Amino acid sequence: MTDAAPLGVWSAPGRVNLIGEHTDYNDGFVLPFAIDARTAVAVAPRTDEVLRVRSSFDETPASVPIAGLDELFASAAPASVPEWSTYPLGVAWALRHAAGESASAHGLDLAIASSVPVGAGLSSSAAIECAVAVALDELWNAGLSKRELARVGRTAENEAVGAPTGIMDQTASMLGETDAAVFLDCRTLETEVVPLGLSDAGLEVLVIDTLVTHAHSTGGYRERRASCERGAAAMGVAALRDLTLDDLERAASVMDDETFRRVRHIVTENARVIETVRVLRSDGPLAIGELLLASHASMRDDFEISVPELDTAVEAAMVGGAVGARMTGGGFGGAAIALVPRDRVAEVTDAVTAAFSASGFRTPRVFTVRPSAGAHRDDPGGASPR
Ligand code: ADP
Ligand code: MG
Repeated sequence: MTDAAPLGVWSAPGRVNLIGEHTDYNDGFVLPFAIDARTAVAVAPRTDEVLRVRSSFDETPASVPIAGLDELFASAAPASVPEWSTYPLGVAWALRHAAGESASAHGLDLAIASSVPVGAGLSSSAAIECAVAVALDELWNAGLSKRELARVGRTAENEAVGAPTGIMDQTASMLGETDAAVFLDCRTLETEVVPLGLSDAGLEVLVIDTLVTHAHSTGGYRERRASCERGAAAMGVAALRDLTLDDLERAASVMDDETFRRVRHIVTENARVIETVRVLRSDGPLAIGELLLASHASMRDDFEISVPELDTAVEAAMVGGAVGARMTGGGFGGAAIALVPRDRVAEVTDAVTAAFSASGFRTPRVFTVRPSAGAHRDDPGGASPR
């Protein structure tokens, strides 16, 4: 039953957010890209109606009867299964609801392996969700589109795992393309693939993982969300997306200073995302460095989600010859990215490593990522989903 020949292998990438941080849950704009680190799921058939998930990430497997998924996820983060398994099992649960009658759910063994580092701001969570979503969509004949599968991933993360995140990560992981970013309007869910042209410009994206871990679903993240909601309410708008740079003067007069600075980050960051797309189209990626740096400064000073390691990474990368750099992901640790001319990668890496050492920080993990294809079936066994 468990050693049956696999039905196939599906995979989905992690993502790096080029620009647009914490704008997603404010109905704003983001510009992430899928990376060349992926989470793969090999699926084998079972003779019963049980879903079993295993992962190289955690030795404890989980088995749940498909008919028991609704009860399991009657509330978020059930204690009866290991926490990691709520990601793939939550996707199965959300996918059955999204597909309704059309899905033919049957028992499966899912074996998961990943090259996406966990908790580094590269969204290993979206990678596992989207890999499982494309696999189950095909095997259960759910017939959902990539956009719908991205929503399934978010539903799983929000309601099964219990992490209040937006839909950016899943959108990038589902819709990414080679040497391109995915512009997402988080209100309309309209997407547009934006060519990055890194290859032609001779640029690499360097990820500097500070190895400082973040707790995305707790603490600071919830506080920032609450500040944004308070700011929107004070301005009488549904979401901060509805404000423009011209509204900032009035905003400063109707809320406390801390809330105002949170609001200012979101409003200016939305403007920077739009500007980045425009500059990429008109002048190419060598011209977006200032926008990346301004984004970092805004997160450091206004949104206050950076940490000294991330600031050091950005400053040292620029000293080493980067075109631009910023922290990426939810903040409070995780990674920074730097846009680096191919022949300066070694210098930038050395500059960052030396600066960390001089500050007494743990040696960071520095590596390049390539904007890459989104979720798909890996083996030639079947057609990829729509
Ligand atoms: P990230 O920034 O990497 O997305 P999250 O906290 O959102 O960080 O998600 C990380 C969690 O996702 C892990 O703690 C684990 O529960 C789950 N996860 C990610 N990748 C895997 C994997 N390959 N196998 C099992 N669980 C995984
Ligand atoms: Mg995540």
